Amino acid sequence: MNVLKQYRAQNKKSQQLFARAQKSLPSGNTRSALYWPPHPLYLASGAGARVTDADGNTRIDLNYNNTALIHGHNHPEIIKAVQEQLSRGTVLGAPTEPEVKLAEELVKRLGGNQRIRFTPSGTEANLQAVRTARAATGRHVIAKCLGAYHGSWDAVPLTPEAPDVPQGVKDNTLYFPYNDPDAAEKLIRKHRDKLAAVIVEPTMRDMTPEPGFLEAVREATEANDILLVFDEVISFRLSPGGAQRLYGVTPDFTTMGKIIGGGFPVGAYAAPEEHMAPLMIPEAELPATASPALGFSGTFNAHPVTMAAGLASMKMLTQARYKALADMGDRMRAGLRSVLDEAGLRAYVGGAGSLFFLSWTNQPVRDHASSTTADRALSHLFNLGMMNRGVFILGHPNVSTVLTKADAETALEAARATVEELKPFIRDRAPHLTA
Ligand code: PMP
Repeated sequence: MNVLKQYRAQNKKSQQLFARAQKSLPSGNTRSALYWPPHPLYLASGAGARVTDADGNTRIDLNYNNTALIHGHNHPEIIKAVQEQLSRGTVLGAPTEPEVKLAEELVKRLGGNQRIRFTPSGTEANLQAVRTARAATGRHVIAKCLGAYHGSWDAVPLTPEAPDVPQGVKDNTLYFPYNDPDAAEKLIRKHRDKLAAVIVEPTMRDMTPEPGFLEAVREATEANDILLVFDEVISFRLSPGGAQRLYGVTPDFTTMGKIIGGGFPVGAYAAPEEHMAPLMIPEAELPATASPALGFSGTFNAHPVTMAAGLASMKMLTQARYKALADMGDRMRAGLRSVLDEAGLRAYVGGAGSLFFLSWTNQPVRDHASSTTADRALSHLFNLGMMNRGVFILGHPNVSTVLTKADAETALEAARATVEELKPFIRDRAPHLTA
């Protein structure tokens, strides 16, 4: 196939690096999402809205390390903050002021009587939020949406079939479909006596919540005294106060990651002080012997360099920039829809704000079941065709504050040419996608 031939010819050094990697890394990679056949691209550098690979190919970035780099690569303000912090050392081994400053910034954005804990990843933010919710309620069962990703750990597999998870752990996780308020309410009511928390990504994998869904989950959890965790590791970028502000539904716990670290490893979770009680050191026992009910540690938690980079990243996110990000997201969604219309093809374009996606299915993508109707092979070939044309696009397409209208037009032109190239193949393979 021409798409593959061109990809191979363009990326010889990446191909060699991948062959080498297979001798020391399982399947040659460290993040499943960053592996794709015939081999991933090895990136050498990034600048603004572009990445350059090991072969010297420069592409417009529509991935930004899976939504982490909201200001693109190497933003001067972030680099300056990092360099200043690095001039004082790397990791220091005690609390630092940058940790307090970033916590203050996030508390201000979330509002209310919030308290924050930092972790090195979004995975750990969710894990610690669930631990804290279990300790706070004295209950152990959690409920999540079918197909939702909350990090690589065993209490939250995508689906109940997970082969790695011991039965005892499986017994403590329940599932309901995203965007199904009735199923959520029923499940919560039925298991109210053992549920500690319900964890929901407000915009599940870029799908948007239908009116009433988040509200129903909020009402049912509140009515039954169960804690609601919003996983805002990705969706926090949607407004100054995250998706919860955008959709007007307030959880008990908020988990964050990605953009709040300015390009460094990060996670955090927040909740009003009363829900963080298990982490509090009882004041009466101060100073030496007191310890919290729930131990919480991590050598690299609140890494000062991450905190400085994160603060610089968040400070730049003004109202005007959120508006520009959402406008750019609209531009990408509208552009992709007209590319498909012009080609006489049916596929689903979705997303919210600065997140967008294209799914090769003739159904609206609104939950796990409908998302699995998408043709993954077409998605893969589309991405390779885009790479061949100078656009770096993967599973979670998104725009940054440094992507220009001209970049967006170039990316949409690449989409037009890729769709044209793949059209005969799509007609053959997926006639239901031809209008
Ligand atoms: N939650 C969601 C919704 C995510 O998308 C991700 C990562 N893509 C995580 C949690 C895990 O975050 P991390 O990769 O930083 O561990």
